[in-house]
Amino acid sequence: MVQLLSAVAAISLTLAATVCAHSTQLLEKRAAHCAALTYNAIAPGQYPVLDCPPFDQDPQVQEWLKLVDMTKVPVYPPSIEGGCPPNNVGVHPDRCWWTCQKCTAPDDVVTCPKTNTWGLTYDDGPSPESIRLYDDLLQHNQKATLFVVGSRVVSYPETLKRAYKEGHHIAIHTWSHTYMTSLSNEQVVAELMWTRKAIFDTIGVTPLYWRPPFGDVDNRIRNIATQLGLKTSIWTQGFDTNDWTVVTGTPYQTIIDKFKTWLTKIPTMETGFIVLQHDVFRQQVDVALNGILPIAYATKGLTMQPIAQCLNDGKPYKEGSGTFQLGSGNNQSNDNNNNNNTNNTGRDGGKSAAVDNTPVTPLIVTGASMVFMIVAAHVL
Ligand SMILES: [Zn+2]
Repeated sequence: MVQLLSAVAAISLTLAATVCAHSTQLLEKRAAHCAALTYNAIAPGQYPVLDCPPFDQDPQVQEWLKLVDMTKVPVYPPSIEGGCPPNNVGVHPDRCWWTCQKCTAPDDVVTCPKTNTWGLTYDDGPSPESIRLYDDLLQHNQKATLFVVGSRVVSYPETLKRAYKEGHHIAIHTWSHTYMTSLSNEQVVAELMWTRKAIFDTIGVTPLYWRPPFGDVDNRIRNIATQLGLKTSIWTQGFDTNDWTVVTGTPYQTIIDKFKTWLTKIPTMETGFIVLQHDVFRQQVDVALNGILPIAYATKGLTMQPIAQCLNDGKPYKEGSGTFQLGSGNNQSNDNNNNNNTNNTGRDGGKSAAVDNTPVTPLIVTGASMVFMIVAAHVL
């Protein structure tokens, strides 16, 4: 299955590179593709259709809905793929919609408190490209927060196992990477909980942090996530690397030059910051490995940490710390340590992981769905 998915991903990468100029149309096609599916209840041991919002009438989802008191959820009309009305006409001031109002709520995780501290995050994995990133992070004893997509967890469970085994902070990035404000309350629950289940089935812990794709969150979505025990995490305003644009032709140097401007700004800030990066495409990982990370590692006084580390949260999972350790995985503070992990040979995406995976059986995997997912990932 992994080989098949890898082949599909390779084909999809080629296709996506040629069609991203029409990403909006493709997102619409994905919506049509998903809407046209005939949904059935999901049997035990199976997962929803990859890269489509899960069927909200499924008995499992109905069970999860009992965890949320819908009478407490603010009522706002679902958006159309996260789009904003002209001049935000009709958007309630109390909605606190990040996409359209650039509003963050008091409980949103948007920054690291300490100065010169970088919340290192990568979104949209695990993917075949994640492996090179993990190799580099391991060599530098550097940990990160990984916001993973449920559909990719099912596709690449061994890769996630490796990330977890190596102490990265694993967090939720929804099942189908859809604009969350475009979904019904029931679909939002399904997106978050299926991803949570896929992660738990794979590595045995329940993440307490999640990031909305595209940052598309409002107080309706926040309320549901909070009732499910999840901390909404975005990134610091202005610290989006825009690394997704390299796939559509932006030169690597443009991204790196933008990053370099931050280095002069960071020492003057009153807090640290959280950066948005991705590890789903080869080009994105290239930018990280050949540009951003080497410079960051070499920058004196700059500390990169997973979000849970910078928030001093030693228990980023419902079950506690898992493999995550406060105080580890901080490249700056570990420069003088004898890193005994450097004989890593993990080019196989983590086949050395200690435990076998719970059987996973996606109902359907299509090249089209991968293309849609990948294009969606490009939009932000
Ligand atoms: Zn994403």
